[in-house]
Amino acid sequence: MQNLRIPGPTPCPPEVLAAMSRQMINHRGVEFSEMVKEVTANMKQVFQTKNDLLLLTGSGTAGLEAAAVNMLSPGDSVLSVSIGVFGERFAKIAQTYGAVVVPLNFPHGQAADVDAVKKALANNPQVKAVLVTHNETSTGITNDLKAISAAVKGAGKLLLVDCISSLGSVNVPVDEWGIDVAISGSQKGWMVPPGMAMISVSEAGWQAYAQAKMPRFYLDLGKAKAGLEKGQTPWTPNVSVVFAFQVALKMMLEEGIENIFARHERHGKFTRDGVKALGLNLLADERYASNTVTSVVADRGLDAKKLNKIMRDEFDIVLAGGQGPLEGKIFRIGHLGMVKEADLQAVFDALKVALPKAGFTG
Ligand SMILES: *Cc1c(COP(=O)(O)O)cnc(C)c1O
Repeated sequence: MQNLRIPGPTPCPPEVLAAMSRQMINHRGVEFSEMVKEVTANMKQVFQTKNDLLLLTGSGTAGLEAAAVNMLSPGDSVLSVSIGVFGERFAKIAQTYGAVVVPLNFPHGQAADVDAVKKALANNPQVKAVLVTHNETSTGITNDLKAISAAVKGAGKLLLVDCISSLGSVNVPVDEWGIDVAISGSQKGWMVPPGMAMISVSEAGWQAYAQAKMPRFYLDLGKAKAGLEKGQTPWTPNVSVVFAFQVALKMMLEEGIENIFARHERHGKFTRDGVKALGLNLLADERYASNTVTSVVADRGLDAKKLNKIMRDEFDIVLAGGQGPLEGKIFRIGHLGMVKEADLQAVFDALKVALPKAGFTG
């Protein structure tokens, strides 16, 4: 079996795959309505929230777009705290719909500096909302969201967070940290195939929604909320992914969220230790290194693209490459969702053989 070690889509448990092959049901019927209510209630436990939690058919990016168009109006000023490709995407979406973006960019491989966020907020009192990526998948950095949130909420701003590759794997207490809008995606830590974005909205978020004038139709969260009250979604949902979620969430709650977070911490450390033991360097500032994805610098002769090809062709292990400015400069190892230590050990055993073949001189 292929060892799929990318930061999403992640491998799914056999029970989840079996659920995906179930016969269709009426998405306006009682069975679906009970299922969607159960899935939403269980998912709220993972989000650690009492806020509304809505399911949107689409990938994670649909959730980012929903956050922008439902919370903002054209001409609104937003502070974009970006530490990589996904931070830039969030800002680009807001800008596309007419927001005025105040960029606060940090070097790739670094976390956002909280004092700089505070300063930017003080210097830009017109800012209405702050866009942040919790776990920047392109660089393997997890921002100190608790501290960033305290700064943003302290300044009375709306906080919209891309938690796509953190929620379900690492601790994101949405209510405790005051996250107004938190977004995730089914194919990351949730052990479910791609096809759904999940988005929570706070009371302050709904107040912003009532004022927001960006154009929206398919991703209108007010329609999603009204639908959910009847146990429905406004449009035909990805029914198979909801089947998958029903099974995966039961498995997650059975394992316990604290245990899931601890497992990801262990695997994050195991991966970083393994990378260093091979003589390789981490891209990430280790104080903020992600426990869902590890980025490794391709230096000293190492051809990252060649390495990933050898790993795939000779070992049936699929690693991720670098994105945007990091293309060809790093490779990435995903360790979120359904992962065992043996899956990661297999990566290191193969890397030992593949690295010299890919030019690494150590
Ligand atoms: C995967 C990912 C996305 C994009 O999600 P899609 O499902 O590909 O649309 C956005 N942000 C982060 C941090 C991600 O990891």
